[in-house]
Amino acid sequence: MRLQGKVALISGGARGIGAAHARLFAKEGAEVVIGDLLDEGNMVAAEIQQAGGKARFVRLDVSNEDDWRRAIAEAVGPGRLNVLVNNAGISGSQWGDSLTPEAWDAIMEVNVTGVFLGTRAAVGEMLKAGGGSIINISSQMGIVGSGATHPAYNASKGAVRSLTKAVAMQYARQGIRCNSVHPGPIDTPMADAIYHDPKKLEWVHSMVPLGRRGNPEEVAAGSLYLASDESSYVTGAELVIDGGWVAQ
Ligand code: NAD
Repeated sequence: MRLQGKVALISGGARGIGAAHARLFAKEGAEVVIGDLLDEGNMVAAEIQQAGGKARFVRLDVSNEDDWRRAIAEAVGPGRLNVLVNNAGISGSQWGDSLTPEAWDAIMEVNVTGVFLGTRAAVGEMLKAGGGSIINISSQMGIVGSGATHPAYNASKGAVRSLTKAVAMQYARQGIRCNSVHPGPIDTPMADAIYHDPKKLEWVHSMVPLGRRGNPEEVAAGSLYLASDESSYVTGAELVIDGGWVAQ
């Protein structure tokens, strides 16, 4: 098993891409902690336990520093954290959104400040554990622009992309690796409003050279490599999992 003996905290793990990470990481031997605002995280943890894996749920608002401290102290335990997946995010991608300061702040608070606070809370524990792997779920929208997303979403995911490289440089000599993952359109509740509209769905598929949306498991498979020791020489990198969107 590729993550045997590792403890992994996954933010936003109650559904979508985060839940796929939790299921796959547990299957590969990790002890998984799911942090989310949604109580559905309890069901994902129970499902993993029933399948013979180790998982628990902790309520976590990624934009709240005290929540991070409590989640790590109570659910993970001191000096035990090996892997952090900063996955929780909000899109604000409804077409026709107006760019208000309130919408900007809300997106930045979860997508950027949440990643910063998670990293800040995790680093000390990873240093005690002798190193670790931080995986930040950005987006292909952190690399290219789009008329269809809220500009704050692109800006937030671009910030995650460069924050990842800064953290990678800061902690490289202390055994903490930090990489970003850039999914394209993935079939999760986040994008339901787009995928249920035939016209918008057609546009999405037209943008993907592979001609379809991805599924959450295809993203988790990339993160599994970054979480495992197989990627021991990889830090500050961008793993694009987008069906070819940014390659064209
Ligand atoms: P989702 O909406 O299905 O799941 C997001 C999860 O994050 C939910 O469980 C939600 O409760 C949680 N969350 C939101 N705000 C939170 C907060 N403040 N504190 C804790 N948890 C919070 O979305 P998803 O598609 O699974 O997205 C996961 C990540 O992948 C996000 O960062 C998203 O931006 C990114 N992403 C998604 C897509 C896509 O097409 N679905 C594409 C590229 C990147």
